[in-house]
Amino acid sequence: MKDRVIGNLIKKETVRQEETLDLIPSENIVSQGVRDALGSVFTNKYAEGYPGRRYYAGNEVVDEVEQLCRERALRAFRLSPKKWHVNVQPYSGSPANLAVYAGLVPLGEKIMGMQLDMGGHLTHGHKVSFTGNAWKQVPYGVNKSTEMLDYAQLANLAIQEQPKLIVAGFTAYPRKIDFGALRKIADTVHAYFMVDMSHFAGLVAGRAIPSPFPYADIVTTTTHKTLRGPRGAMIFCKSDLAKAIDKAVFPGFQGGPHVNQIAGTAVALEEAAQPAFRDYAKQVVQNARVLAKELQYLGWRIVSGGTDTHLLLIDTFARGIPGGEASTLLEKNGIIVNKNTIPFDTRSPMDPSGIRMGTPTLTTRGMKEKEMVRVAHMIHGVIVEHKNVKNEIRALCKKFPVKG
Ligand SMILES: *Cc1c(COP(=O)(O)O)cnc(C)c1O
Repeated sequence: MKDRVIGNLIKKETVRQEETLDLIPSENIVSQGVRDALGSVFTNKYAEGYPGRRYYAGNEVVDEVEQLCRERALRAFRLSPKKWHVNVQPYSGSPANLAVYAGLVPLGEKIMGMQLDMGGHLTHGHKVSFTGNAWKQVPYGVNKSTEMLDYAQLANLAIQEQPKLIVAGFTAYPRKIDFGALRKIADTVHAYFMVDMSHFAGLVAGRAIPSPFPYADIVTTTTHKTLRGPRGAMIFCKSDLAKAIDKAVFPGFQGGPHVNQIAGTAVALEEAAQPAFRDYAKQVVQNARVLAKELQYLGWRIVSGGTDTHLLLIDTFARGIPGGEASTLLEKNGIIVNKNTIPFDTRSPMDPSGIRMGTPTLTTRGMKEKEMVRVAHMIHGVIVEHKNVKNEIRALCKKFPVKG
């Protein structure tokens, strides 16, 4: 690297990632193959348009890349190209969701999405997001006693509010989603049913949790979370919606696609279609379960009583410790988590009651149940006994290096 300054920062970040435990559920470690594609000459190319219909010359190789990426995307999720279309150009998850709404929902109409403080995403219609300005959010949450989705409640809300689109798929909901129940609700009010599987796409590809595809009209996903690809996104839709979605992405919102990113996504999708990825996805869920169980054993309240996925929410304030304080204590020791609101949080989002943790990155590093038990005890020791576990963390990290 000729640029010494950036070169040094890359080295510093490499060391940081090597020497800390990353428990942020939306992060992961990509393969060297994905990074090779990202750093390839495809970054030099303009390719506005779609395969076979470009506004620039010289796109014969790019066309092959995008076509291959689409094929691999459908294959990774076991979809028939007769029924499903996929757009692999969205720059990231937020513009992908925006494009779907713009393509399918008239401005000012209602979108039913989960509230941010219950585990939804900004782009599901929150008021500080453009999606909450251009459309009207019908917010929903979880049931107060179970802290899980209450489908009867959702049905009543949908009938009352008549949204044009219902979106499910969350950033801090640890449980399986009953896609079939939501499909029925959407049908009752003639709404589109969209699943934003950004967080758990890798678990769907790896068959560790049920797939939304038999039920949804549209499925959006980021590519950089459990799916273990480069930063980016994809929009899957039923064939009859393909034109509207493609038009909304380009020229509706975007200009030239990031072809290097699409090449990286193609690499990740091929990896996700391998049998080894199924083992990975299963282990991610198993690790999260063990982590949740061990923390419960140590006296922590886990929101909804556990997890079916890659993530869990700990109600640290149930023990008198705000989420921000817990996160800071952990960070000082090299355990990286994020503070998070819990359902019906009585504290502010800036200093909420809980922390959110996930296992995708640790599992990519090769950690299993045994290590999760250790991690749970370290987390407990740091937060409750203000223990210093830096050396223990460093030793654990050394044993499970970050491999590209
Ligand atoms: C991460 C995420 C997004 C946004 O993705 P970005 O790439 O950060 O824009 C949207 N929806 C959900 C559910 C997510 O988890």
